[in-house]
Amino acid sequence: MDKGWLNELECLYRTLVVLVKDVVFISEYVTPTKPSYSKDGLFFSELRRRVDAYFGTRSRRDDPRIYRKTLILFTLYGAAYLALMSTATVETSVWIQVLLLCTLGFTCAALGFNCFHDSIHGSFSANSKINRFVAFISCSMIGASRLLWYQKHNVLHHQYPNIYEWDDDLETRNNLRLSPHQPWLSKFKYQHLYFPFIYALTTLEWLFVKDFAQYFSQKINSSQKTPKFTSLDHLEFWVSKLIYFSFFVVIPLFLFSIPQYLVGLLIMHVSLSWVLAAVFQPAHVMEEASFSKPDPAHPQMTDEWAVYQMKTSVNFAPKNSFLNWFSGGLNYQVEHHLFPLISHTHYPELSEIVKKTAAEYQIPYHSHPSYFGALRSHVMMLHHLSKVPETQPASSIRLDSSTAKTTLL
Ligand SMILES: [Zn+2]
Repeated sequence: MDKGWLNELECLYRTLVVLVKDVVFISEYVTPTKPSYSKDGLFFSELRRRVDAYFGTRSRRDDPRIYRKTLILFTLYGAAYLALMSTATVETSVWIQVLLLCTLGFTCAALGFNCFHDSIHGSFSANSKINRFVAFISCSMIGASRLLWYQKHNVLHHQYPNIYEWDDDLETRNNLRLSPHQPWLSKFKYQHLYFPFIYALTTLEWLFVKDFAQYFSQKINSSQKTPKFTSLDHLEFWVSKLIYFSFFVVIPLFLFSIPQYLVGLLIMHVSLSWVLAAVFQPAHVMEEASFSKPDPAHPQMTDEWAVYQMKTSVNFAPKNSFLNWFSGGLNYQVEHHLFPLISHTHYPELSEIVKKTAAEYQIPYHSHPSYFGALRSHVMMLHHLSKVPETQPASSIRLDSSTAKTTLL
């Protein structure tokens, strides 16, 4: 056989191996040294004392407002889904279908922020069975795995926000550079322009590829493992996915043509993904936020845990009551990171206590009065991260993701 063909085949094989490794995370596994924080100082003990005094004997969870909101969102979700499916048999304008798809996407996002996020944190109810039930139902409605999210969000993101190789929210598989500690690649040069396209595909990748890749490979990413699943956890994962795929793959494919279905799925997920990114990204990937990558030889952080949470979290539009309602209080990211077990319905009142205490202890309290100010800061940060870092010599700049991955690992 002609050697040219053999070389072509070998090249194709190597490209496929790199692609598969990228998708299922079967690259060499190395856990970075676990960072640890300094001992809690006076700031957090005083803050906790003031928050305890604010609540007194009142419950910090089970707020009737969250139950009312859950009822509204579940009803809206059901109504939007049924109305959308009915358009298969009732003649409807394509614009009405687009509107219903976006409504379903926005409602999924709101369910995610309010029910899914709060119940998995345990801040929805003081009763763990209610949290578990709400988490299971909302996971099945959104399509995500509760246990994988718990590990990625509650454990990795909340414990180590903006710490490269630990915070899973910074993990983009080199599609974007979200931390100054992430090695620079030439493709990041225009990330401040193309980022909406990457954000647009987040949930399609998360629900249809990433969850399964992480489940089967038992890895969250190239450096973090998934939690150990019990038999009940495996059952929950599959039942939850089965419910979602029945409603969002099987039933629609019975009612609509394949092209109609694919376009509809794309519209719904793009609207959902953009809303998720619009709330989660301006909370940490910001000009004013701190970013860390502890030295593996000395993983001790100089900050105490609470101070580090303050330095890495940013609030936005705190007076916007609709945004506060819709985003499940995630616009009060500082309060959420300090008190994830308290229902988000209390964040506006807690923010006054946190702000005052932070000022007394001279600790930064990041807050953008308007949403657009926060969005601007996020885009500016993406722009800043798109530039070649001064500390990275030109000779060490990696030009493609496969080389970068090898070097990182
Ligand atoms: Zn959270």
